[in-house]
Amino acid sequence: MPEQTALVTALIVDRPMCLDCIAMSVGSTVDEVGVVLQRLTGVLELHAEHRVCRSCDITARVFSVERPADRPARTAHQRHA
Ligand SMILES: [Zn+2]
Repeated sequence: MPEQTALVTALIVDRPMCLDCIAMSVGSTVDEVGVVLQRLTGVLELHAEHRVCRSCDITARVFSVERPADRPARTAHQRHA
């Protein structure tokens, strides 16, 4: 599910969110988001911290990724519309 991966990444870049909020925002289950996050760890620097979620203001385990600075914004995945 590359689309979900992209959605989740865009969501939590610079914005730590808890699993529930990520799942709700991308329209997936918590389990699915867990799988996506696991994949992300191999690609991006994923941070898991116990702090306030930016979305629901509840202190929980929140996830965020660091924006890859060493990579251009355009990738080979771009397609012609
Ligand atoms: Zn939340």
